[in-house]
Amino acid sequence: MKIHAIQTGTVEIKKNQKIGKGSGVGRLINMLFGREWIEPALPIYAWVIEHPEGIILVDTGETARTAETGYFPRWHPYYNLAVRFHVKPEDEIGAQLRKMGINPKDVKKVILTHLHTDHAGGLSHFPESKIYVNLPEYQRTNGFQGQVDGYLPQHLPRWLEPIPIEFNDELLGGFTKVWRATTKGDIKVVQTYGHTPAHVSVIVESEDVQYFLAGDASYSEQNLLHKTADGVSPSPKQAIATMQKILALAKQRPLVYLPTHEFDSAVRLNNKTILSV
Ligand SMILES: [Zn+2]
Repeated sequence: MKIHAIQTGTVEIKKNQKIGKGSGVGRLINMLFGREWIEPALPIYAWVIEHPEGIILVDTGETARTAETGYFPRWHPYYNLAVRFHVKPEDEIGAQLRKMGINPKDVKKVILTHLHTDHAGGLSHFPESKIYVNLPEYQRTNGFQGQVDGYLPQHLPRWLEPIPIEFNDELLGGFTKVWRATTKGDIKVVQTYGHTPAHVSVIVESEDVQYFLAGDASYSEQNLLHKTADGVSPSPKQAIATMQKILALAKQRPLVYLPTHEFDSAVRLNNKTILSV
């Protein structure tokens, strides 16, 4: 089994998004109107797992279509004020898989941590794969309210009929529900609610360590260790409770922590750097 980090371009966000400031609506306002941007821009990773049971993808990264005029709703303050994407066509996951010698058709399963555009933007490359989503997360994307909440349901592929992730009761670190994504049981999905109310993360068990494909459970390892919630989580409290569960898991078994938006994730993956808790 091998895990690859695929960087599908970069995203610029505000400092107050990476590290939330204030509470309630003030937190959102601080993020939207904060003057400081994170420099340099953050990576957008997706993860390819070459597994004996078939190729599994965790998230699909962002699409180059984000450069098109009118791609984002003009009325949306977040897209207007607080985010800038930099994705070239060759950065898209489909092109990068082909370069690695993998036909996107051969991706058996796609597991989405959540449906924000920089995680679901590459979905169009996988019409023949099974797409797994936590159902309440998918339902949240619906209609106008979905757009208000920052999703882009108008850009989800028309063929998309995601398979709901079926969680079972199982204790794992601080987590109580687990979906085993492989027959062998070495790839597990846990509920890491916070960044979105039904966000999930993926755990890949290898002989000596567990890789934690965090999605946006936190934007960085530092944020996890300091239990710092981001500026977009509807419930910072829930996000912090999730971080405590991840830290509890890391105390049980050596864990390599791999959030989507941190360059060091790729370095930690290659060096098998264990999270010190
Ligand atoms: Zn997100």
